[in-house]
This record gives sequence, structure tokens and C-alpha cells, in this order.
Amino acid sequence: MSEQASKINLLDFNRADMEAFFVEHGEKAFRASQVMQWIHQHGVTDFEQMSNISKALRARLTEIAEIRLPEVIVDQASADGTHKWLLRLDSGNSIETVFIPEGSRGTLCVSSQIGCALDCSFCSTGKQGFNRNLSTGEIISQVLVANKAMGVDKDGERVVTNVVMMGMGEPLLNFNNVVRAMDIMQDDFAYSISKRRITLSTAGVVPALDRLREVSDVSLALSLHAPNNSLRDELVPLNKKYPIKDVLAACKRYIEGHKRRRITIEYVMLDGINDSNAHARELARLLKGVPSKVNLIPFNPFPQSGYKRSPAKRVARFADILIQAGLVTMTRKTRGDDIDAACGQLAGKVKDKTKRTVQGVQLRKRAGAA
Ligand code: SAH
Repeated sequence: MSEQASKINLLDFNRADMEAFFVEHGEKAFRASQVMQWIHQHGVTDFEQMSNISKALRARLTEIAEIRLPEVIVDQASADGTHKWLLRLDSGNSIETVFIPEGSRGTLCVSSQIGCALDCSFCSTGKQGFNRNLSTGEIISQVLVANKAMGVDKDGERVVTNVVMMGMGEPLLNFNNVVRAMDIMQDDFAYSISKRRITLSTAGVVPALDRLREVSDVSLALSLHAPNNSLRDELVPLNKKYPIKDVLAACKRYIEGHKRRRITIEYVMLDGINDSNAHARELARLLKGVPSKVNLIPFNPFPQSGYKRSPAKRVARFADILIQAGLVTMTRKTRGDDIDAACGQLAGKVKDKTKRTVQGVQLRKRAGAA
């Protein structure tokens, strides 16, 4: 067990890390691309099966390294084609990954943390508390597991075509591991997913958004949910630390210099809370001059949430006002809710919430002080 734990998990490496690893062990850097192809394109976890690697190197790798995937404990399919996997990590924690097919597109919703520290009032993950960040290996494993399960279509194209970092957790609070995992998603020796087909969704961690701009240019989604600070403070407590004006300015900086790029604005529709005509008009004014498209998300209820989904008519009227104001507006279809796989229903199983209490309290304190 302890010997097992001390081995290097090659799933934690992007190509640069993998090359450095082989060079450090007296090997040629190109071994990295070979091994990455075995792992990510063929789903091979046993070094002995890597037939273009010498016997001696295979033996050495078996000694010092491993390819350790989380265990798939539940694999559920929804009537609408949505899939959900429950993956068991260490010490009884588990996370959820969801696959949503839509025409020729197959979107995988990936988690970045066990639980979440942000405690947005309408999100069931937040209610679970925060345990810890996922490692790079645990993040990319979700892509690996889904690809293994979904495979390729009749033309030989991968069924998983898109990734959204919209599962459990705040991806920008697990910056390095998320960026490294997104490198692997884009790598031609792994999944070759273009940056346009990878979307990072954030509640708006301003300094991390500025850092992200330096190292990545994946698509960006902002969980806005309210058109003014007093309402957003209530729904997304992080807003007390990074208010709307600062967050939108950071989003604009993120897409600066990228022609035709837009920020996706996510807006969960909560009955009687943020869904009035006045809210729609306020939102339209707020987004003037922000290259964006609005994604209205029907609220997905969970026990004790205290909120109700806005009626479909209300959502349609809200959307109309935005469209008339010139905003590209879509209403997200609710998928996979029969298997609790819809937005905000991902709960996994988060053990040991004590860590969150510490982090959560610190967060709120800082927010209060700001
Ligand atoms: N922390 C990141 C990513 C995870 S949440 C973020 O805040 O963007 C992914 C999306 O699901 C967010 O827009 C989130 O606000 C939304 N969401 C959370 N709970 C929901 C619920 N109960 N119903 C509908 N959408 C929800």
C-alpha cells in the first residue's frame, strides 16, 4: 500500500512534465508522446502492453510509476442519452462526471474539486461543503473514463467532442491542476480537443482570471445569475469579494484581442428571485459593451434548496427582453435530471467537511472585510 502510494501517477503529467520525467530518467523526450498516446488514446494502464517501448524501460516504469485511475462505482444512463459516472477517489470521497449528447456534439461536464467552498445559495454541490482540490490525474481521468465508455462514432470520431469545466467545484480555485488537465485535453497525443471546445466556467475569481489569460485561451463562461451586486451578494457570496464591475472587466480583459470571442453569461432562473422583467432590463443594460451570449439555466431543484424553477413562460419572456435588447440568448435544456445529473445536482459524496468550514469561513470573512 505505501509502496503503491509512493509511485508517480503518470496521469498527473501534461506533455512538458512527461518529457521532463523521461529526460530525467535518461530517456529521449519523445517517449512522452508515445506513453501519452497509450494512456489517453488507447486507455492502456499496464506498461507491459506498451509495445513500442523497450522491455527494460517497461520494467523500469512498472517499478517507479503507475497509471492510477479512480474506480468507476456507478455508471448511469438517462432516458435522454445523458450519462453519469460516479468515480471513487481516496478515503471514500467520490465525484461525478456527466456526458450530454446533442446531435453531433458530445459534451462532458468535468469536476475540478471535491465539493466547493463558494456556497452559492442555489447549488447543491455548495451545500456539501469543500474537501479538497482534485489532482490533475483525477481531473483528466474523468475525460479518460468517459472516452473509454463512449468510444468513437461510425466515422471513427470521438463521441466526446467538448468539455465544460462545470461540474463540482470552482475551477479557478484549483488553478494549476485545472490548467494542466486542460493542456492534456488539447494535446494531439491525447484528446486533441480544440480550445474553442473547452469551456471553463467560473463564479468570477478576478486575479485567477487574469492569470488564466496568461497561460490559456479556452472559452470562458461566467456564472453571473444576478444583474446587481445586492442580489448577487446573496446568490453568489464570492461577489462580496469580487463585485460585478470587477468581474466583467476581468472577463473583457480575458477576451481582449480575440476577435469574435464572447463570454458565455450563465444565469440560473429562480422563481420570484432574479427573473422579473426589470431584472432582464437591468441585465441587458449591464451587458452593454460586454461581448457576450446569455445562457438562461432553468433552476434544478434539490431537497431543501428553498428555491423554485421559474415557469417556462417567465423564462421565455425574460429571454425575449434580452433578445430585443440585442443579446444573443439561449435557454439551456435540462438534461439528465432523471438521474440527478443536471446542473447543480452533482453532489458526489463529500467526506470530512471540516476543511470547508475553515476555508468557507475564511472566504466569507475576507468577503465581509472587502
Ligand atoms: N464554480 C463554477 C463551475 C460549477 S457550476 C461556476 O460557478 O461557474 C456550473 C453551473 O451550474 C454554474 O453556472 C452554476 O451556477 C450552475 N448551477 C448550480 N446549481 C444549479 C442549480 N441548482 N440549477 C441550475 N444550475 C445550477
